[in-house]
Amino acid sequence: MQAAPYTIYAVQYAQRTTNSSELFVGDYHNTPMKMTYFVWALTNGTQNVVVDLGFTEPVGTRRGREFLRCPSVGLSMLGIDCTKVEHVVLSHFHYDHVGCYALFPNATFYIQDAEMQFYTGRYVRQAAFRHSVEVEDVLALVRMNYEGRLVFVDGDKEILPGISVHKVGGHTAGMQIVTVQTKEGRAVVASDASHYYHNFEHNVPFSSHHDLPGMYYGFQRLRDLADKHELILPGHDPLVLERLQRVDDGIVSMG
Ligand SMILES: [Zn+2]
Repeated sequence: MQAAPYTIYAVQYAQRTTNSSELFVGDYHNTPMKMTYFVWALTNGTQNVVVDLGFTEPVGTRRGREFLRCPSVGLSMLGIDCTKVEHVVLSHFHYDHVGCYALFPNATFYIQDAEMQFYTGRYVRQAAFRHSVEVEDVLALVRMNYEGRLVFVDGDKEILPGISVHKVGGHTAGMQIVTVQTKEGRAVVASDASHYYHNFEHNVPFSSHHDLPGMYYGFQRLRDLADKHELILPGHDPLVLERLQRVDDGIVSMG
């Protein structure tokens, strides 16, 4: 079935300042860089899908992030009531993509098998992996599974006409990206398959990764799936706010 094309909204909810050497493999320049934190809304007037949920203020503050607003406040500026959202895609389980699950009591969550397996498996005890997740988030997802609220995907799956998820791995074991049919063609919400435009545009991996070859595979997949490069949306790049159409403070759109 052909669905009406979607508009993609990037809603910023937090930020931090870091430097390029912390972000990019092989970078020794220590160039100051901003990292923005987004949630994404896909809407076509009939369906609202939210991609990634952001962290809560207490978690962000504990981790030294500058919390700008609750993601639900940003989404409400688009007329989206989180309590009514039925479809949420979690690109991966890192704290900055999952933490606000409680704001979406009526949603079904789409995740990859490999992500749940990894974060309930043997290696998560290692600091390198444990650091980026909140155990309470993972426990909440396990509970949601018992309540029948998770849809597991292994690979690629259309979740609604015009919206599909695709496993790429790389950054995490079950990292997934989202393709979206827009008026401008097929766009890709890359989330952390490419934190910055710089990653996929220049094949420069992000410093934190589960599987480095998988990250290169992810860059290629983004380029293959998007109808044009301008339709690829990285997960943490302040340039998203400049390259897309301004809607409101910290909110931009495509399509
Ligand atoms: Zn992230």
